[in-house]
Amino acid sequence: MRVLGIETTCDETAAAVVRLEPGGAGQILSNEVMSQIAQHAAYGGVVPEIAARAHIEIIDRLVRRALDRAETKLADLDGIAAAAGPGLIGGVIVGLTTAKALALASRKPFIAVNHLEAHALTARLTDEVEFPYLLLLVSGGHTQLVAVKGVGDYLRLGSTVDDAVGEAFDKVAKMLGLPYPGGPEVEKLAAEGNAARFDLPRPMLGRPKPDFSLSGLKTAVRLEAERITALTATDAADLCASFQAAVVDTIIDRSRAGLRLFRETVGPANAMVVAGGVAANGAIRRALMRFCGESGLRLIMPPPHLCTDNGAMIAWAGIERLSLGLIDDMTFAARPRWPLDSNAEAAHHGKA
Ligand code: ATP
Ligand code: MG
Ligand code: FE
Repeated sequence: MRVLGIETTCDETAAAVVRLEPGGAGQILSNEVMSQIAQHAAYGGVVPEIAARAHIEIIDRLVRRALDRAETKLADLDGIAAAAGPGLIGGVIVGLTTAKALALASRKPFIAVNHLEAHALTARLTDEVEFPYLLLLVSGGHTQLVAVKGVGDYLRLGSTVDDAVGEAFDKVAKMLGLPYPGGPEVEKLAAEGNAARFDLPRPMLGRPKPDFSLSGLKTAVRLEAERITALTATDAADLCASFQAAVVDTIIDRSRAGLRLFRETVGPANAMVVAGGVAANGAIRRALMRFCGESGLRLIMPPPHLCTDNGAMIAWAGIERLSLGLIDDMTFAARPRWPLDSNAEAAHHGKA
């Protein structure tokens, strides 16, 4: 089985072809990604209208390239998948419409994929892992702990009540005058800084429900930065290190609460899976390795290029759904919001 996957929900235009091997493993035949970071950098964040236009300009060529690199013709495909949300509506429509047009023209099944579901299932493309597992999704737009019980069967254990972790990294970077996207820049500076210098809050610590809150921490960083009259490079590094340490503590404490809730409500977990761009952060990766080691839990961290937005994860989610006979029709509309819990999934299939 071979599926083309298209991703346009945010600031990456991506297309990929993935093949399902007879044994159940997935093989990435091509994975083309065009990041728009340069076009948005001047604004310090993603500008929706610029994003949608950039997707339109590149999508045809990118799909062509993904098919060519995979030595695949439209006729060789078993299905065409696109992320139908959640995301910036203008961009989502570009990818969704492209996939529908290709599916119609080639008379192939069309699969509407939830972008979050694609992040959640990527671990099954890169590693052999059975359901259920605990997912920590930490990206620029999302921060949540999810029990992944099966394809289309998700229980959201907790999520952020304000900012996403990646968003907090980006805002702290902006405050300190670092370029966008800020995550990698903050991590670089943090490596040279003193994490013990600033005593920053760790919101939600110790709460049984595994929710997150990042805006108080972000504000605390701003107040510290404003208190210093002429911010030196050392001050910035110490602030980054203190901020990152607070994020690490928060992620581990919230993951511990998430694992407890998972074991209480779902049962034993087969693994902990980490996804989203923030999973590229070395300090967070190391802390999660320690946490999973202590908890007797297998840790799966897909390589960074499969943790951030990409086409292979959409194609793979398409394969997982198509394998279960889950296909969609041409009336499926783009969804700016599309939570990953069971109710939303039931509605997706027209059930109560
Ligand atoms: P979403 O996937 O939720 O729609 P998104 O496209 O912004 O949102 P990703 O592309 O998965 O998310 O990740 C980008 C985010 O990851 C940015 O906020 C970026 O700052 C953050 N990030 C990337 N690398 C690092 C790092 N090394 N440390 C911390 N954060 C990082
Ligand atoms: Mg992105
Ligand atoms: Fe994403």
